Amino acid sequence: MLYEPLLFEISKPGRVGVALPDLDVPESPLPTEFLRTEEPNLPELSELDVARHFVRLSQKNYSVDSVFYPLGSCTMKYNPKVNEAAAAKPKFTATHPLQPEETVQGNLQLMFELQEMLKEISGFDGVSLQPAAGAHGEFSGVLTMRAYHLSRGDTKRTKMLIPDSAHGTNPASSAMSGFTVQEIPSDDRGNIDLDALKAACDDTVVGLMITNPNTLGMFEEHVEEVVKTVHDCGGLVYGDGANLNALMGIVRPGDLGFDVMHFNLHKTFSTPHGGGGPGSGPIGVSEALAPFMPGPIVAKDGEMYKLVTPEHSVGSVKAFYGNFGVMVRAYTYIRMMGADGLRAVSENAVLNANYMRVKLQDAYHVPFNRICMHEFVAEGDIIEGIHTMDIAKRLIDYGYHPPTVYFPLIVHEALMIEPTETESKETMDGFIDALHKIAEEAKTNPDLLHSAPHTTELGRLDEVQAARHPVLKYLG
Ligand SMILES: *Cc1c(COP(=O)(O)O)cnc(C)c1O
Repeated sequence: MLYEPLLFEISKPGRVGVALPDLDVPESPLPTEFLRTEEPNLPELSELDVARHFVRLSQKNYSVDSVFYPLGSCTMKYNPKVNEAAAAKPKFTATHPLQPEETVQGNLQLMFELQEMLKEISGFDGVSLQPAAGAHGEFSGVLTMRAYHLSRGDTKRTKMLIPDSAHGTNPASSAMSGFTVQEIPSDDRGNIDLDALKAACDDTVVGLMITNPNTLGMFEEHVEEVVKTVHDCGGLVYGDGANLNALMGIVRPGDLGFDVMHFNLHKTFSTPHGGGGPGSGPIGVSEALAPFMPGPIVAKDGEMYKLVTPEHSVGSVKAFYGNFGVMVRAYTYIRMMGADGLRAVSENAVLNANYMRVKLQDAYHVPFNRICMHEFVAEGDIIEGIHTMDIAKRLIDYGYHPPTVYFPLIVHEALMIEPTETESKETMDGFIDALHKIAEEAKTNPDLLHSAPHTTELGRLDEVQAARHPVLKYLG
């Protein structure tokens, strides 16, 4: 079917889909001022009409439950269903954020234990679960850095250093915190250019925001020297923890000397995301920064769990507790995996990415081609006249969700692939095979790529218009 009709369009007057139970309490009419004066304009449908409509719509979605979804940087791993079962437990879903602490001890215990587990995984001294996503964690972490500097009377620091491979949220959250951004170039191995970093370090530096492994999937080879350089000029090191999936049980950012880092619970710790949320972006901080982090956090007082606000906290950055449902999923995931399981996650994520990198490098140029971490970046302009977008769209015809395209910005025609640990060798081989076939088609029948996708209801969209002027409401 080319076009899925809207519920309004298949509505038939008088058709009914629900059977309301008989009233079993005394009737109590609403005051007249609350009564509507016109009938609501609602579609009238049978239950079957509604069920088919929504099932058909759901089948049009690409999701990690239906296809391989190798988005670089975003860690679209499979979300085990046990996480959902835990988060759906009525004892969690029926609690109210304003309940007295003694009546929500179970929820607070879960949050406390999650804080402790994240500390152990990352090597930080304090964790605040408040921020609602990675970008929000960055904003909260940068405000925490700012509060630390100001508390020491160190008021000259206004400049944040950010490598040119960074995710766009890094400069955005620095700017939102009132700082200017100085970009630091990468060297030809995909590391931060140390000389450029040294030249930029002075007493106006708030800190460095660093993603390790970075968005090229490269582990920063001089990370200890990078950290020392920034600390030597009085700056702090912010770790963008979005790529923690490569490191768990192997390297702890706190041990590397990072002062603050956000976790993306919805990425590394397996909770469904995309389409705008929900997420959770807790921050971990060093001992020196712990008094400044956002609150409340959960503390244990004897046998009781309670909410406390760190002494010099930058304040609350989210209503109530943060996104509690995401915390339950992440907690369940960590408990199910255990310490050895988490290490195996990272080992397999790295192994899978390197397998795909090596299998694809003959057909797709990999500009920073050394052993990668959990992802790697290839280039899609494999032959004159073919662009990354053509490859990405053609992959849809082969039944795959395209990888991240045109990011990171420092790779021309980037095709950023992150298989994650959850994919089997068969799935990866299928994807590698499709990319090889597409590389052949690029030579023999380039128009097939230019006009892709061919199997979707709508072909090549104007993506700028679709993002800027989406048509979201019923017009008829
Ligand atoms: C996803 C991501 C972010 C932002 O995290 P959100 O949870 O989407 O706000 C920041 N940096 C990197 C490298 C990321 O991959």
